[in-house]
Amino acid sequence: LPTKLPHTGTTIFTVMSALAAEHGAINLGQGFPDFEADPALLQAVTSAMAAGHNQYPPMTGVPALRQAVAAKLNDLYGSAYDADRDITITAGGTQGLITALHACVGAGDEVIIIEPAYDSYDPAIRLAGAVPVGVAMTPDYRIDWPAVRAAITPRTRALVINTPHNPSGRVATHDDLIELERIAEQHDLFVVSDEVYEHMVFDEAPHQSVARFAALRERSFLISSFGKTFHVTGWKVGFVAAPPALSAAFRRLHQYTVFTVHTPTQHAIAAYLADPAPWQGLSAFYQAKRDAFRAALSHTQLKLLPCEGTYFQTVDYRAVSDLPELDFAKWLTTEIGVAAIPLSVFYQRPQERGHVRFCFAKRDTTLAEAIRRLEKLA
Ligand code: PMP
Ligand code: GLN
Repeated sequence: LPTKLPHTGTTIFTVMSALAAEHGAINLGQGFPDFEADPALLQAVTSAMAAGHNQYPPMTGVPALRQAVAAKLNDLYGSAYDADRDITITAGGTQGLITALHACVGAGDEVIIIEPAYDSYDPAIRLAGAVPVGVAMTPDYRIDWPAVRAAITPRTRALVINTPHNPSGRVATHDDLIELERIAEQHDLFVVSDEVYEHMVFDEAPHQSVARFAALRERSFLISSFGKTFHVTGWKVGFVAAPPALSAAFRRLHQYTVFTVHTPTQHAIAAYLADPAPWQGLSAFYQAKRDAFRAALSHTQLKLLPCEGTYFQTVDYRAVSDLPELDFAKWLTTEIGVAAIPLSVFYQRPQERGHVRFCFAKRDTTLAEAIRRLEKLA
């Protein structure tokens, strides 16, 4: 067989979830809630099916959902996305990312990714025939803009940004976005902005969406996911917002890769979005979990790194072990009974800093049991 991505192994999320299941470990590795979504949302899917919403929706997505998405974005970020022209419903954030990248880069282009980088960016860029160029964050996981500038060449075509940031939990600032806008304009770059954690930002900080910045918005694909926002990661429904020319390019590919997305869930989410309370309350919901998880971990040997957004907490374990990160994460899973994700896998050339990530999107009882096990770390 002609092998695509010959050097790409199995994603770390599959590896660690399988190991956790095999050893009966508490799975704080792969990011997903272990609690149910709002029954009203689940009921809305059943109702949509009963109402006969079971055939193909329009290629771009159910109109009511596109309208709800555009209205929310425009209210929150002061953008002027048009529901028909600029919003496309996708099979989760992952499809939004790969389709956006294929729409804007091709053979020989370079694409800057900020490392540690979510693991789907690199293969998505390579499959488009382009070259991912990793730029490391600063040691405290801020975007290193001088390093980004230094990595730009005449072949650089696009830049992938992710805020709130998986895996570090950092949140980009207004100044970060201003600098991004300046660089993108100066070098005429497309921006693929992964904002799947847009509604998980703590301590009253605003989410700095590319949609807030007029010049940036004009060259950006904004990607989000309802799986994160509504605790339904298995539904795989998200959206891409982009200005007309970019949306047209996106849809040219989208129509022949997925064509469209599961109809009843789109209707359900559209109806559920009529009430802003669920997504408006998400930051407070996860901030309480973050605070409790951090307070408990502060009594262990694990050193807490800042967590400003997402549902991930990164820790430095070097007081406990000098194992490499992947080995430590596996040891933690098999011997302590708590699965984590090593940050080293989010780099083109693995970095060993003694950092692993825990997902705290879990019931309080699950987190309490995980803490009880982690307290055993001497
Ligand atoms: N981007 C980031 C940063 C993510 O963490 C995830 C999911 N964990 C995705 C994209 C993909 O989202 P989805 O599950 O909707 O495909
Ligand atoms: N995005 C989730 C995480 O970072 C996992 C998604 C997946 O399993 N592909 O944990």
